[in-house]
Amino acid sequence: MTELAPYAVSEHNTRGRAVHEEAPSGRSEFQRDRDRIIHSGAFRRLEYKTQVFVNHEGDLFRTRLTHSIEVAQIARSIARRLRLNEDLAEAISLAHDLGHTPFGHAGQEALNACMKPYGGFEHNLQSLRVVDKLEERYAAFDGLNLSFETREGILKHCSADNAAKLGELGERFLRNRRPSLEAQIANLADEIAYNNHDVDDGLRSGLITLEQLVTVPLVATHLHEVRQAYPGLQERRVVHETVRRMINTLVSDLIKHSERNISARGMATVEDVRSAPAMIAYSAEVDEQQHELKNFLRIHLYRHYRVLRMSAKAQRIISDLFGIFMADSHLLPPQFQGFAEHDRARAVADYIAGMTDRYAIREHRRIFAVEEVPI
Ligand code: MG
Repeated sequence: MTELAPYAVSEHNTRGRAVHEEAPSGRSEFQRDRDRIIHSGAFRRLEYKTQVFVNHEGDLFRTRLTHSIEVAQIARSIARRLRLNEDLAEAISLAHDLGHTPFGHAGQEALNACMKPYGGFEHNLQSLRVVDKLEERYAAFDGLNLSFETREGILKHCSADNAAKLGELGERFLRNRRPSLEAQIANLADEIAYNNHDVDDGLRSGLITLEQLVTVPLVATHLHEVRQAYPGLQERRVVHETVRRMINTLVSDLIKHSERNISARGMATVEDVRSAPAMIAYSAEVDEQQHELKNFLRIHLYRHYRVLRMSAKAQRIISDLFGIFMADSHLLPPQFQGFAEHDRARAVADYIAGMTDRYAIREHRRIFAVEEVPI
């Protein structure tokens, strides 16, 4: 194994876990974090949570689980090339969406709207709540007792109000400091993964077409290359070959440009990383190209009327459930009722956020359908 760069997070400079534990044998601290994440219940639920397409719309579309695995793959490759801590980048990537509601973005917006009078709902913060409190698996502590650096990476954004309540972990949002390079990588790997797989899923669903996509320079360049090199290639293969080249361009540019940033700054320690501006970044040219792709997807895919119809349905399901549990907490499953006595809104939000798409649909039917529904 190549030696880690001096500014990488390592077992020697980690700030450790909230509850002290013996060092693991046969694996590193960050491998242990990753393993705990994979064994969590919240991780398994990602299989049935929407990325863009609702789970029942098709078997080949990305779910939050396959999305998270793609993020981890991209983050590991980048971390390895920059001699950073791959295991940490992987752990953050696998955990980054654990707090996501059912029904993707629409679900998050709906729950946030319901929670407005009670401190709001933010899926990054909820991911942290899952690994810090909600997972009930270990005898000695609530949550997964992950390393500081993994938790720091999970908390990508945070309002100043919430940051003030988070102690050491919230500090960087108040003092305008950066997280580790591994966290910065996981953040950008998330974007690379969804921009590219949404092109693939969007095309497969027929909601967007290659003809529309040629207006996006990043797609057009690679599509042209593929068609030139392989005339007559079957369309699905053209799409896949184009997408893989796009990922490659983004990843290579990110590595090259970040390397340059790091050496220009003369980074020597993790503390240097925290006090410097963000070092993991694209060149200006590629940054512009990936923004154009993002804009295209926002207009043509995320706001497609068929996606919006599903979002409208999702919002209704979530606000109906929130409303009825707030009106009568006795309708909650028993394990949520104790906490509901102290903080009903947060208990309801925890319950709803933990649901998969299909569980939420079924729960809605169990409570609101007039005809008989199996309990
Ligand atoms: Mg994500």
